[in-house]
Amino acid sequence: MYAGLRDSWELTKPFLRPARFWNAVKVYASYYWGRMTGSAAQWGKPLAVGIEPTTACNLGCPQCPSGLNTFTRPTGKMTAEKFAVVVDKLADACGYVTLYFQGEPYINKAFTAMIAECTKRGIYSATSTNAHFLTESVAEETVQAGLKRMIISIDGVTQDSYSHYRVGGQLEKVLEGTRHVLNARKKLGKKNPVVIWQFIVFAHNEHELPEVKRLAKEYGVDKLAIKTAQVYDAENAEQWLPVDDKKSRYQKNEQGKLELKYAGLRHCSRLWTNPVVTWDGNVVPCCFDKDAEHGFGNVIDEDFETVWQGEKAAEFRKRLKKGRSNIEICRNCSEGTRVWL
Ligand code: SF4
Repeated sequence: MYAGLRDSWELTKPFLRPARFWNAVKVYASYYWGRMTGSAAQWGKPLAVGIEPTTACNLGCPQCPSGLNTFTRPTGKMTAEKFAVVVDKLADACGYVTLYFQGEPYINKAFTAMIAECTKRGIYSATSTNAHFLTESVAEETVQAGLKRMIISIDGVTQDSYSHYRVGGQLEKVLEGTRHVLNARKKLGKKNPVVIWQFIVFAHNEHELPEVKRLAKEYGVDKLAIKTAQVYDAENAEQWLPVDDKKSRYQKNEQGKLELKYAGLRHCSRLWTNPVVTWDGNVVPCCFDKDAEHGFGNVIDEDFETVWQGEKAAEFRKRLKKGRSNIEICRNCSEGTRVWL
């Protein structure tokens, strides 16, 4: 079966369980009810969740708090035991886990055990990695554990261009890691994980698109995903953004300031469908809350419902309903807009 179709089927399967299906109906009903009436009510549990294996990273990417080590929140690694506690509280409703937030997931030695826990519970698991730790044996462990989707960051086709953003990284490691996963899949007779190369378009690599397309074919990855760059530091933003405006998610407003092309939305499904749990159990609204400034509560200590339906979460949903411009992290957020080219 074609990789895209097979992946869609793998994504659908976890939600064919009656309890998860019914939860999805309740979640979308409350979300669309909220869009019609302005209500911030939430009638279910998330369909998907991101869980952060670690905040640590081996690279130093200039637009990333992990790489720059600029977090103000505690940093560390989630244990396999705590991961199982979190998953246990969500598995009746949630069918998709993104094993990634900040940091490089493979730095956590319990990472493949986390994948296996998702597989055991019939949950689709996905991750995003810089591929530097994908040795032959780690790639085989990953395939055996049952990972369904692996996104590998490759933002350059020469060492210079790659390490311009992926500071401290080696392109050869990315290529080697890719080969190891594809070979492990073949050797073990498995179809997953689906392997996706992610290429973020910056000023220094926009000319490399034809070559990365050629390379993706040569390596036989399942998909090449080309993404617009997100920038956080407004003062230095322009040095990173491509010259070709069509490859950027930003435009200049009348005052000459950068703004998102599709700003002004007043809703966001993430607060109904897909939050993130940090390595120490804090539930945050989404992956844009990198420093966990808007934590709703700790899911290791409390019931998930208590946190998800609690005062802090309700308050955040109400603020968002008044407009994304009311919340700092939502102003530079691409949710609901086009970021893939
Ligand atoms: S940052 Fe974006 S995804 Fe997160 S809550 Fe705000 S609008 Fe939603």
